[in-house]
Amino acid sequence: MFLRQFVNNNNAAVVEMSRADFLKANLRLILAWPVLCLALCAVLWTATLLQLEAEKKVAQQQALDSVASQSKAYGQYLLRTLEQMDQLTLQLKYEWENARGKLRLDQLKAQGMYALPQFSIVAILDRRGHAVTATAPLTRLRTNERSDFLLRHWRSNSSALRIALGRTNEAAPVAGGAGETLVHFTRRLEDEDGNFDGVLLISIHSSYFSQFYDSVNFGTFGMSAMVGEEGELFSTRVGSRVLPVAGVHDGQGTPFFDTSFLETDSGAIESGSRVAFSDKQNRYVGWQALKGYPFTAVVGLACSEMLHPYQETRSIYIGIALAVTLLLLAFAAIATVLSLRLAWRHHQSEGVRNAYRMATEGTSDGFFIISALRGEDGAILDFEIVDCNEPGAGYFGVRREQLLGMRLQSRAHEPYFRDLIHHYRAAMASGFSEEEIELPDGNPFKLRWIRWRLVRSGERLAVTLQDISAAKEHERDLRRLANEDGLTGLPNRYWLQQFLPEALARAAIAQHMLALLFIDLDGFKDINDTQGHAEGDKVLRAASLRLKAVLRPGDHVVRLGGDEFVVVLDPVEDDSRAEQVAQRIAIAFDEPFYLGSERHKMGASIGISLYPRDGAETDVLLKNADIAMYAVKVAGKGHHRFFQPELFETIRNRRELEQSLVAALEQDQFLVVYQPRVDAMSGQLCSMEALVRWRHPQHGMVPPLEFIPVAESSGLISQLGEVVIEKVCLQMAHWQGAGQELVPVSINVSARQFGRGDVHQVLASALARHRIDARLIEVEITESAMMDEQNRAVEQLSAIRALGVRLLVDDFGTGYSSLSQLQKFAMDGLKIDRAFTMELGRSEQGEVFVRAILSMAHALGMSVVAEGVETREQLDILRALQCNEVQGYFISRPVPADQMLALMRKRFLIPLPAPVLPPYSPRS
Ligand code: C2E
Ligand code: CA
Ligand code: CA
Repeated sequence: MFLRQFVNNNNAAVVEMSRADFLKANLRLILAWPVLCLALCAVLWTATLLQLEAEKKVAQQQALDSVASQSKAYGQYLLRTLEQMDQLTLQLKYEWENARGKLRLDQLKAQGMYALPQFSIVAILDRRGHAVTATAPLTRLRTNERSDFLLRHWRSNSSALRIALGRTNEAAPVAGGAGETLVHFTRRLEDEDGNFDGVLLISIHSSYFSQFYDSVNFGTFGMSAMVGEEGELFSTRVGSRVLPVAGVHDGQGTPFFDTSFLETDSGAIESGSRVAFSDKQNRYVGWQALKGYPFTAVVGLACSEMLHPYQETRSIYIGIALAVTLLLLAFAAIATVLSLRLAWRHHQSEGVRNAYRMATEGTSDGFFIISALRGEDGAILDFEIVDCNEPGAGYFGVRREQLLGMRLQSRAHEPYFRDLIHHYRAAMASGFSEEEIELPDGNPFKLRWIRWRLVRSGERLAVTLQDISAAKEHERDLRRLANEDGLTGLPNRYWLQQFLPEALARAAIAQHMLALLFIDLDGFKDINDTQGHAEGDKVLRAASLRLKAVLRPGDHVVRLGGDEFVVVLDPVEDDSRAEQVAQRIAIAFDEPFYLGSERHKMGASIGISLYPRDGAETDVLLKNADIAMYAVKVAGKGHHRFFQPELFETIRNRRELEQSLVAALEQDQFLVVYQPRVDAMSGQLCSMEALVRWRHPQHGMVPPLEFIPVAESSGLISQLGEVVIEKVCLQMAHWQGAGQELVPVSINVSARQFGRGDVHQVLASALARHRIDARLIEVEITESAMMDEQNRAVEQLSAIRALGVRLLVDDFGTGYSSLSQLQKFAMDGLKIDRAFTMELGRSEQGEVFVRAILSMAHALGMSVVAEGVETREQLDILRALQCNEVQGYFISRPVPADQMLALMRKRFLIPLPAPVLPPYSPRS
């Protein structure tokens, strides 16, 4: 016991493992998903960043290529423009020299020459720098600029084109506003002798050299610049804005960019270490030196704009990577939670399973957990035993460890296992099954009956196996007991009531006949009463064997109870066949039964009913067979007869009366009335007769003559007699208790009551229990009774007399007894039958007869009671004849006990004072 508890407690601890412990035990599981996801994130980000890096390089390279080619294109543009200016100045010089001072530039302008907006000034200057002719006033030029041109061309005798950056004349600003920069193209003019003769000037707006920009899209922060020999910025443009360049410096005095990086003729770089822009923009810068002119075309494209597509791609990549990262993290979280939950559930179900197994370990029930093994198509191929308890393994005759992991198919060749697999499949399909199975011989469990209980849980079956062999055995016993008579082993009434309706239904379908033989053993009650119940039982067993012996195997003998049997002939060909069986039974009962050395002759009364002739229902057929049997009994026993409807009324009434008598005894419907007997001389109450009455619930008071004969013929009289004795003694005890002085009470005892042989015992017991003096009881026995049952009556009467009870002969004169016979019985008195009393005063014979009886009785020392005294005359005659006592309506009718008490108190019951009669003298 202690050990069991210890084991259970241990297991409870296993089941109730704390959550903290559980988490500790499942650390790997907790970390697995996050670690996996982090690794995936790392790979993802590395790949993304590497990819972006590569794309950035490509974008940068493309940008550099782009600025390089743009700067080349710009260079081409500038070159073409400068070449045009070269040609234009040359042409103008030629025209000037040919015109010999007559060329008027203002007139030419008016005619549309040199009128394009880029031309700021076109002029011819003389040796002193005064304008000879010009398209615009020279006030636009600074004086030092003019002298600069003159000086340079005067000193050098080269006729080559000179290009110089000029500044706006602040005194007279031109259209384009302050800061407007001009690029001056000049050529030396010579006279015929080749001496310096002035300068030809064409001034162009510097912004003109940036117009290339408009034909190409450089973006918002793109720039172009025309850089001179000494790094001066001739024309600079950023986006749509032309930078106001004064000399090499912008408005703020800082160069827009430092041109020192232009060491080679062409190239492309990213701004940063080698070049920086004053507007802080990073640019890709490309440059191209012009062939034949000391200029370099520079183009810069803003990094931010060039890399814009890359940046967009980059933010998409990063966005995607971020999203994927978030998804992975979320997945890791969910996966961790789910797998933990799964593990927890598994842990719990494991715990529950252990607990259940442990719990069932204590019982004798087998418990298994069986897992279905499925093929690829999902069909169940096999089952594996995953867990079981020791009793479960015990059913297979092995230890638990040996059973775990066993596959059922491996034993499918054994006949029982095939069924088992089939059962399990069905349970997997339905989810539940419970069955009680009778196992075939040689089953592995060595059991007769088992109860399987299969419950599906997911892919598993929880199986409980119970050995119910004992319960089934018990059930069978109970069923047998319910249907079988314990004494003879024959089927009983209960069985018959189940069987007959079915047999009748079968007979109805097959249209065959069926016979019921109702058998009552004659004189069995006497054997039972005289020999005792044990002997009676032996006789019943012997009788049942004899009945069985005369039947065919298909026929049935049923013991209804007591000494009543029913034989069912199913089917029966005709009534002659039923009669044959009845005769065979009669022959079988011809043979006496032996009890020890005693022989007992015991016949059988048989009533036969036939289906369908005598009824279609069980009850009707049984009843009719019973009535036929009863008719046999009444007619004298020991033979058989078929049911006849004519029998029905009379016999049925009698039979029913008998049955209601049984009920009346059970329900105590009997009572006793008392009729006084008085001393014929004094009229004093000297005794009384107890007379039974039946207070029937429907029919009211039933007089004894209507039921005593039936009680006698049915044997119920013994029981009824006992009831009367008991009631009388009880009443006397009451009277006695109430202080009433008692007079003797006479009780009628039927001859049949002696059959059972215990009247004296019943009397003795009642007298003792109620403390009644035996001398206060008298017993009345009819004369005929004494004749009938001679042998037994003698013994019992003397036994009764030995108690101190007086004996009276009842209804004297109706039988054929002789006085000598009466002497033999040692009777104390006799009662003259009412028939003789009635004759008194009517006929002489009556009086003669009464007188004769009186003298004989007196001679034998017996007292005489005259019954049925109804008239004064009868009374007077009886007194005259010296009759001892009288009883009759003239004195009192039989009355209930309370009225009797009043009569007892009155004592003198003869209505009138006794007349003084003359001394008796015979009339004859
Ligand atoms: P019985 O023993 O001869 O009883 C006397 C019957 O005569 C009673 O009928 C009684 O009421 C009736 N009687 C008495 N005086 C007169 C009278 O002046 N005129 C007429 N016409 N009748 C009178 P009861 O009570 O109907 O009983 C009938 C019979 O039933 C009895 O005849 C007796 O044989 C039997 N009996 C009554 N009680 C018992 C009993 O407890 N046990 C047994 N075995 N038999 C009983
Ligand atoms: Ca009587
Ligand atoms: Ca009588």
